[in-house]
Order: sequence, then C-alpha cells, then structure tokens
Amino acid sequence: QDFSRDVIIIGAGAAGLMCAATAGYRGRSVLLLEHSNKIGRKILMSGGGRCNFTNLHNSPANYLSANAHFCKSALSRYPAARFIELVERHGIDYHEKTLGQLFCDVSSKEILQLLLTECDWAGVDVRTESSIYRIDKNSDGYRVKTSAGIWQCRSLVIATGGLSIPNGGATPFAYETARQFGLNVLPLQAALVPFTLQPRELDIFKPLSGVSHRIRARIGDAAFVENLLFTHRGLSGPAILQISSYWDPGGEVEIDLFPELDLLQWLGEQREARPRADIRTLLSQQMHKRVVQTFCDLWGFEGPINRFDGPQLAAVAEAFHRWVIKPAGTEGYRTAEVTRGGIDTDEVSSKTFEAKKAPGLYFIGECLDVTGHLGGHNFQFAWACGDAAGQYV
Ligand code: FAD
Repeated sequence: QDFSRDVIIIGAGAAGLMCAATAGYRGRSVLLLEHSNKIGRKILMSGGGRCNFTNLHNSPANYLSANAHFCKSALSRYPAARFIELVERHGIDYHEKTLGQLFCDVSSKEILQLLLTECDWAGVDVRTESSIYRIDKNSDGYRVKTSAGIWQCRSLVIATGGLSIPNGGATPFAYETARQFGLNVLPLQAALVPFTLQPRELDIFKPLSGVSHRIRARIGDAAFVENLLFTHRGLSGPAILQISSYWDPGGEVEIDLFPELDLLQWLGEQREARPRADIRTLLSQQMHKRVVQTFCDLWGFEGPINRFDGPQLAAVAEAFHRWVIKPAGTEGYRTAEVTRGGIDTDEVSSKTFEAKKAPGLYFIGECLDVTGHLGGHNFQFAWACGDAAGQYV
C-alpha cells in the first residue's frame, strides 16, 4: 500500500467533506479520515433532521469573530447561491422556512448523500474509525500516524469542528493541533445554547415550560426578535439561542416582551376604551394568559386599568419592555449547536485557510474563531471555507 497522498483531511463533517470533494476534482489524491464510525453526524442531526443548509440573506454580518473581516473573502467566493445550485443539481427539494433559512423538504440525509456523492465522483478515499495519534512536520510536508497506518502528505487539513455535542464525536483535536504548531487559540465557550436560570427564577418560570412568546433579546448592540421558549431548565427558543452567542458568564440579557407594540400607548388606549377591565385580561389579548399571570404576579400588577395612573401605567410598560435577566449559566456543550471562539483567525490566511506559521497545514470550519448566527450560517461558512481550502491544497 502506498501511504502517501497529496492531501489528508481530518474530520469528515461539513467543512471536511466539501474540502475533500473540491480538492479531489482538482486532481489531488485525497484521504479523508474520520475517527467515529459515522460521517457527517451533525449534518444528520441539524435543522431538526431537515438540515438548514444555508441562508438566502447570508452575509459577513451573520458571524461573530475577533476579526469581523476574516470570513468575507471565502463567503464572497462561495456565496449561498453556489451551495443552492449544488443542492438543485442533486435534485434535492427544499423550502424557505423563515428569515431566508433553507431546509430540505425530506431529510438531512440528502445533504450528506450529496457530499458523499461529490466525494465519490472526485475520487476521495474516505475512511471512518481512523484515530489520529500524532502529527509531525517534515521536509515533504506532514507525517500523520493513525490507526490506519502512517501517512505522508503535502497538505494537511484539520476539519474536526468544535466542542459541542461531545457524545456525538466532538473532540478538542483542532485546538490541540493548532497549539502544537504554535497557533493562538482564543477562549472557547458554548454558543447557540439555552440559558439556565437561578433556582428562584426557575421556580417562577418552570410552570410556563413549553410556552413560547415572541420577544426581542438584547445584549449591547446585538438584538434578535424571535421566539423565546420557556423550558423546565430555563430559557430557550431561537431568540435565546441567538443572544447566547453574545453572552458572557455573569452578564445580563435584556428582554422586550412586546417588541412590536408600544405598550404604554396601547394600555392608554385600552384605559379609555375599557376603563373597568382588569389589566391582566387586557394584556392577555397580546400574550399567552399564563405568561401574563406569571409576570403580573412577579411584579404585582393587578386590578382594573382605570386604577393605574400615568406613572403606574408607564411602570407596567417599562417592566414588560425591559425585563432584565441574569442567567445562571448555559446548558453547555451538551446541547450547544456551536462553539464560540477557537483558532485565532490572525493565524490563518482568509484566502486559503493555510496557517501562516505552518505552511501546508490548513484549518477550516467551526474550529476557527468564526461563529455563525442560527439559521444556516454555520453550514454556509463550512461550505465556503471547505471550498476555499480545497482550491489551494
Ligand atoms: P463538524 O461538522 O462537527 O465535523 C467535524 C468532524 O470531525 C466530525 O465528523 C467529527 O466526528 C470529526 N472529528 C472530531 N474529532 C476528530 C478526531 N480527533 N479525529 C478524527 N475526526 C474527528 N448549522 C447550520 O448551519 N444549520 C443547522 O441546521 C444546524 N443545526 C445544528 C443542529 C445541531 C444539533 C448541532 C449540534 C449543530 C447544528 N449546526 C447547524 C451547526 C453545524 O452543525 C456546525 O457548525 C458544522 O457542522 C461545523 O462543520 P465542521 O465541518 O467544522 O465540523
């Protein structure tokens, strides 16, 4: 057996598969190594089994990174339209759900099959259950010691992803390899993840478990108007997942429970029209009755609306428009969709994804300090950097 290849890619997830096919089509001999027995596990579990594979409105503004410019080059060379074209070429039916999010009509399996078919056509050698023991640089590139033998390659691509869902095969391999070659790794944190609440607050909100309500969640300049879902552990739903990526332990989140209503004006109009109506009955026209009950109990709002004078009505509106919470924490990597932080993008070329300090070594996908918003942006970045590196390896 010839144990040398032009390119070895470690990690058969979204970025690794895309990179492998791209390099293979360029005539490179490519070996794709995956340590688990299953390829593309996160693709399969994504989007509730329908894979939210990209977003029509994708732009660099949809990413968090210490260097906001880093993702621009790859995204402009491989925009959402390119992946959509690939999906259509493979005859996969899809639909837009909300906010430009594209999902498969049938199953995430179709996206994985698309990538495997592309790898097959491009002549990629894909091997599962291959553990990586050691990587060494030498004059011919990189020597990779694995459970499937010792391999030599000119270009080595690390595409092993982040830390989320550890029981699904996630490992810190990319960060360890980056450190081995002297690359800086920025602090890691679970992101796109539900919040847990302090015990006192959990007692208050747990009975609302399963109820969702449209809110605006805000931290600093970042704000998302989407649903909040009360859970038996705390708060979830798209608005919470989105804002969790901006949250640091100990920090506060500001929640507007009526993001699309001027509550003070509306309450004033109601006081004119139905002076004797109970404030809770009135608020229940705008929000789930149990949510009204819980917050009114918490803040002590009750009685007919005509008993509320101007300042008291303003206090009601302010309370609902500015509910400030201090989460106890997050549910962590166990349920997080992604890892925030990662390999410092200053260490990597934004054009080729090659490490500046280690020629021939590439890092792509979630292991980099580029974290997408919810809604298909994480896969879009994985496709884009997989394609970019695949053009150069
Ligand atoms: P991954 O896809 O995680 O691939 C990494 C691969 O490397 C895995 O196969 C892993 O087993 C392998 N690996 C790890 N360590 C080693 C090692 N030491 N040796 C060899 N192989 C290794 N994003 C979206 O855009 N849309 C969605 O709908 C969406 N839904 C999601 C749902 C869930 C439940 C989760 C957890 C994430 C979701 N994401 C979604 C995020 C998205 O899945 C990731 O951002 C994306 O998969 C990252 O791609 P990647 O190739 O960098 O890493």
